[in-house]
Amino acid sequence: QVPLKPGRSLMDWIRLTKSGKDLTGLKGRLIEVTEDELAKHDKKEDCWICIRGFVYNVTPYMEYHPGGEDELMKAAGTDGTDLFNQVHRWVNYESMLKECLVGRMAVKPVAAPKEFILISVLYHRIVELSRYCAVTSYCHARFFLMLVEISSTLSEEKKQLNGKYSSGASYDWFQTDSSITIVIYTKQKEVNAELVIVDCQDKRLRGEIIVGDHSYLVDLGLDNAVQEDTAVNITEKVGKVEIILKKKDNVHWEKLGQPLESHNTFIKRTDRGLFYRKCKLVSKTEVTHDTKLFCLTLPKSTHLRVPAGQHVYLKQIIAGTEVVKPYTPVLPFLPLDFKEPSRHDGAHLYLMVKIYSHGLFTQALDHLQIGDCISVSNPEGNFKKSRVQSLEDLFLLAAGTGFTPMVKLLNLALAEVSCLRTVKLLFFNKTEDDILWRDQLEQLALKDERFEVQFVLSQPTKDWVGKEGKISSSLLSEFVKRSRKDSKVLVCICGPTPFTEQGVQYLKDLGYSQEEIHAFTA
Ligand code: FAD
Ligand code: NAD
Repeated sequence: QVPLKPGRSLMDWIRLTKSGKDLTGLKGRLIEVTEDELAKHDKKEDCWICIRGFVYNVTPYMEYHPGGEDELMKAAGTDGTDLFNQVHRWVNYESMLKECLVGRMAVKPVAAPKEFILISVLYHRIVELSRYCAVTSYCHARFFLMLVEISSTLSEEKKQLNGKYSSGASYDWFQTDSSITIVIYTKQKEVNAELVIVDCQDKRLRGEIIVGDHSYLVDLGLDNAVQEDTAVNITEKVGKVEIILKKKDNVHWEKLGQPLESHNTFIKRTDRGLFYRKCKLVSKTEVTHDTKLFCLTLPKSTHLRVPAGQHVYLKQIIAGTEVVKPYTPVLPFLPLDFKEPSRHDGAHLYLMVKIYSHGLFTQALDHLQIGDCISVSNPEGNFKKSRVQSLEDLFLLAAGTGFTPMVKLLNLALAEVSCLRTVKLLFFNKTEDDILWRDQLEQLALKDERFEVQFVLSQPTKDWVGKEGKISSSLLSEFVKRSRKDSKVLVCICGPTPFTEQGVQYLKDLGYSQEEIHAFTA
């Protein structure tokens, strides 16, 4: 992020796009852009970039880009999709840059799926031919054997390619008078509720199963209407997922439905577009003078859990433009009793959000009324639960709302990690009034001897007796200490970008390795 000049905020950009000014220089005409044409527009004053198949003239946007002009120029005259996906995959450029749209990229044939289709067609033709020969005894025995041989080679090739695109995952379905059951065989062990995301709305069924950094997707336009509630059963050990839909009318379904674009694919999660569903705001409670806890309900037909350390994206239309921001769901409160793993209520999502007086997104969020809806994406994030599983010491360094990922982490560590000896939270805020869930944290520290919390204020009043200042090497060397030599430790850090960057540097200087540090960033 770079500081933007005055008058260059996102809201200013939205205003400019609404001004009717010709931002592409093409007077509203859309053209098909070849790679050669794209490459010609690689200067600041004439800069075209292709993002997700669409070409934009980003020259007017330069000064408004939060990442800075240099960052944009890295993609000048080229396909910047990968670069944009790496940095801010969630930003809806299709909406933000719609007034800068020059046109579509001229399409190049995609090699891989084509070879797959070709092999499949050949295989089926050969099998047909051999069947015909066998039934009619029409051909010579040697010719017949050759056909069998070719079909088995093609079958092998098809299997390999299928593995490349679906990793062996597959699905099937059956029906009773009143229900439709879709069974997904992931061929993976240890599939749990956090790895299965199901939505069923307006006759569209979408079931995504996360397998490492890939996902398998069933995405269908259903043939008939179904009722609102959808059940999901997971047989963890064998990786089987059943999605049970209730028929609206007790009719016999001839087929399940029409495959949608990415149906039956197994690809990298980051290559899938973000999927959103509308969630209803059910309550809004004050946490501090400027921070609120928003409780959203997921639709009845949605099954989604947000794992510890992951965030979701919220999407709202602000002044006609889709604006997306990330938020890290928390629990409704800090559990105090960790005797057994707490049962997460799957139907609600709790978000702790600081409302900035000039914030574009948080102002709009704060203006939502109870009962209003907001779009919520699938969970994302690169934190792996396995990093906590065999820990002895966990240190959490949080600043302001950077506390949000620590909530589920704390719960996970204290409830499920048996070898854990200490969890320490060093919580940085400006003033006492800014401390989130202070009472709950202090209560937890009294109740659970493994947990300790310290507050550090950067703008304390005179009567503050606790720690003062900002993140520093001396503060960290005193606080982040292994409970015993060589103990297995993880330090998690989250807050404003300069806080996180400085913290990571200090930790490295203190001798903590890359594997022992996790920084939450965008
Ligand atoms: P903006 O309009 O972007 O502005 C916010 C404030 O910062 C304003 O006061 C503005 O004046 C100032 N500002 C904006 N840009 C600059 C700049 N370049 N230089 C100096 N000041 C600037 N927030 C939460 O409250 N809770 C969460 O759980 C949470 N989770 C997050 C998870 C992730 C992964 C990330 C990356 C961020 C998370 N955030 C969270 C922050 C959140 O995404 C938004 O950035 C935040 O809510 C502000 O949005 P806004 O549109 O209201 O503010
Ligand atoms: P804030 O402005 O109230 O500051 C809280 C504390 O952070 C300060 O008291 C200070 O100790 C420290 N701090 C602030 N600016 C600093 C700087 N330049 N250098 C060193 N330390 C500094 O914080 P806030 O308004 O609550 O902001 C929280 C931030 O955390 C936001 O930027 C938000 O985007 C980020 N966040 C990130 C994630 C994530 O997962 N990546 C999750 C939640 C919040």
